[in-house]
Amino acid sequence: MPYSKVTGIVTRYVDYKENDRILSLLTLERGRIDANARGCRRPKSPLLPAAQPFVYGEFELYVSKDRATVNQASIQESFFPLREDAERFAAASSAMQLAHEASQEEEKNTDLFYLLYYMLTFLSYGEAAPQDLFLCYLSKYLDVIGYRPVLTSCIQCGRDLRSEPEVFYSISACGAVCPSCSTGAWAVSKTSLEAIRRMILLDFRDMDRVKISDRFRGELFRILSGQVEHFFDYGTKALAYYTDFLKQIRLIENKTQTNGENLL
Ligand SMILES: [Zn+2]
Repeated sequence: MPYSKVTGIVTRYVDYKENDRILSLLTLERGRIDANARGCRRPKSPLLPAAQPFVYGEFELYVSKDRATVNQASIQESFFPLREDAERFAAASSAMQLAHEASQEEEKNTDLFYLLYYMLTFLSYGEAAPQDLFLCYLSKYLDVIGYRPVLTSCIQCGRDLRSEPEVFYSISACGAVCPSCSTGAWAVSKTSLEAIRRMILLDFRDMDRVKISDRFRGELFRILSGQVEHFFDYGTKALAYYTDFLKQIRLIENKTQTNGENLL
């Protein structure tokens, strides 16, 4: 069957030859597919509007000899509001890059697809603060790609941490640890660990309900981004779209005010 229809999100493109563009699609049905949108950079190409990052739609592919070509595309959503807000655009770029890197060719990961889909939806049309959505995204991201942190018991000795007054977090072990096992680990608040646990359990469709107190944002960001950077070579680069934005904002804010909590 050389023709197949997939539901996908464009997570990356590379211009190719004079007028082509190779699209990476994170698809619901088959994981990542790289497909050539032939001639799409010609001004009147019907494929041009769909050959852009963040586009969600249906793609009809022609596949022969391991190569996929986009035959037709129908856009369901281009998440246009992202282009009108620098912070939301930066957060979406990091999320998209992380999803792209974790997606495997022809390896279906429905949760990864929906995680990115709802992240882009809520960054575009939702109410939640982009920082909170991003923390929720990172918590769920670790879970859906198989790196769910251990949060309620010590990952080293198994001790139940729920009644411990003091808890720590170990990036290298990917989980919480008790005081006796805390060498090389950070002291963290139990509230942050509970927040990660709840965000992991939250339905994708409810991600927009996440609301995190200023007091814990920095700590959560440190744990979650540290975890992503520890496990994946691509982590720092993918996170940089958003972290660079936040650093710039902090520089600007520090010049105009001295109070206020910042993520980094
Ligand atoms: Zn322990």
